[in-house]
Amino acid sequence: MADTIVNGKLAAALEAQSDRLLPCVHCGFCLPACPTYNRLGDENDSPRGRLHLMNAVVEGRLDPASDAFQTHIDRCLGCRACEPVCPSGVEYGALLEVARETANAARPLPRLTRALLTIMGSRPLRSVVFGGGRLLRTLGLARVLADRLPKSGRGGELRQALSMLEASRAGSIPPGPVAHGARGLPQREGSAVRVATLDGCVQAGLYSRVNRATERTLDANGYEVVSMRGQDCCGALHAHAGDLEGARRLAKRNIEAFERSGASTLAVNAAGCGATMTDYGTLFEDDAAWRERAERVAAAVSDVSEVLVQTGPRRGAMVECSVAYDHPCHLMHAQGVVEAPLSVLRAVPGVDVRVVEGADECCGGAGIYAMTHPDLGGEIGEDKVDAVRAQGADMACTPNAGCMMQIGSGLLRRGDDTGTVHPVEILDESYRRAGYYR
Ligand code: SF4
Ligand code: SF4
Repeated sequence: MADTIVNGKLAAALEAQSDRLLPCVHCGFCLPACPTYNRLGDENDSPRGRLHLMNAVVEGRLDPASDAFQTHIDRCLGCRACEPVCPSGVEYGALLEVARETANAARPLPRLTRALLTIMGSRPLRSVVFGGGRLLRTLGLARVLADRLPKSGRGGELRQALSMLEASRAGSIPPGPVAHGARGLPQREGSAVRVATLDGCVQAGLYSRVNRATERTLDANGYEVVSMRGQDCCGALHAHAGDLEGARRLAKRNIEAFERSGASTLAVNAAGCGATMTDYGTLFEDDAAWRERAERVAAAVSDVSEVLVQTGPRRGAMVECSVAYDHPCHLMHAQGVVEAPLSVLRAVPGVDVRVVEGADECCGGAGIYAMTHPDLGGEIGEDKVDAVRAQGADMACTPNAGCMMQIGSGLLRRGDDTGTVHPVEILDESYRRAGYYR
């Protein structure tokens, strides 16, 4: 009896989402799009199956602490490939976050997940951990240590983390001629659109070169780039893990920071962060004090590629290379952004863009999934690496830090250290060669 009361309270958050569960007509169109269903063949590991489990909890037929609910909700990548194919418009991503919040209240999150969320949610801890990570990367120790660890169990989790760290090194853009003589950029005419940029947690810690390339290329395209003082991690990892309070705490800092910046656009260069920030309105839908502010910020968020294509982007110098491009799930499925990053790449003279076969399927990185599920995440990742290598390109290219590390670590396991690049890095190199930055 006591258990029933407790579980009824736990299911209350999910119950409040009944309106989001009702539109599912159980047609099953989403099943072929689901990477976990395709690999495991278990209906409980499909979107429809997971929605059934959520419904069972809401109706009191299933205990949220049960292995069935915990296991199958946990195994979801959160890739949202099931959303665009759903004829009923089921908001699966929002439901998953609340289902995980319900699951976490019934059974605490694993220690590794809790530790990662604590680190990502704290500026001082991030600076220590990423500082140490950069040192290991610079000294080449991340790779050495990863090679010595076992492939499964606790060692497997650390091994995956270290190989992802190693994979965050700069990709090797083939060298090319640089224009002689200072050229610089033409003077801006009139007042420029003011754009704030998100530094992010992993990007700031391991991909500051992508952040700088983002600022330079926006500036080169006539935008006034402003800093967003007081900004923080976007909260994506917390939201995906069901720690919605943690996500709201971080989101509030970003909402305030964006309001202070006076910018009209918030450019984001990581698909996972962009997806979460465009959903800030949903995150605060029950909070009258923050809802409108959150919705305003969500409406201002754009992937950096969308901002750049509004101006062309401006052409630079030749960067002769081929790239195997993979769509991040949180750009393609969650934000519906498909063409803009390809347009950025195609705007660079000399770049041969080859879209990876099956580019609409998750790479298995999925935030911290590759670390918390090294077996299934690893299997999905291996398929992606096969598809990337089949293109025979100079480098892999994808606009999301997590995907860059997941694909890059898979390439490293095959002895391929060409690395992964973000589209803005190639545009930035093109501008550098054109002499725009002098
Ligand atoms: S496609 Fe949509 S409506 Fe059909 S089973 Fe999947 S979630 Fe339900
Ligand atoms: S989010 Fe991805 S893994 Fe999860 S149910 Fe949808 S398609 Fe499957």
